[in-house]
Amino acid sequence: MVDLLDKKKPSGPIKLKNGWTVEVDRQACIGAATCVAIAPDSYDLDDEAKAVIIDGIQTDTDQRILDGAKSCPVDAIIIKDQDGKRIYPK
Ligand code: SF4
Repeated sequence: MVDLLDKKKPSGPIKLKNGWTVEVDRQACIGAATCVAIAPDSYDLDDEAKAVIIDGIQTDTDQRILDGAKSCPVDAIIIKDQDGKRIYPK
């Protein structure tokens, strides 16, 4: 079962404890699921085959969260730092 951080905005933007904000561009997401393969505690697919952000992201490592975003073939996962500056994609 998918445990969503925010059931109204399952694809974010969601603020993490480390200050990052993570969001999935649902228009861009093609459901390739490489983000889920790389960071299964942070990302999952919903029943529309779009990536959602799940509770485990709060305890996942920064590197894995970032690697999941970098693995996306269409750069649909957007990560910003605490100042709103893009970490990925640049
Ligand atoms: S890797 Fe990208 S396209 Fe694939 S499910 Fe994740 S966000 Fe969507």
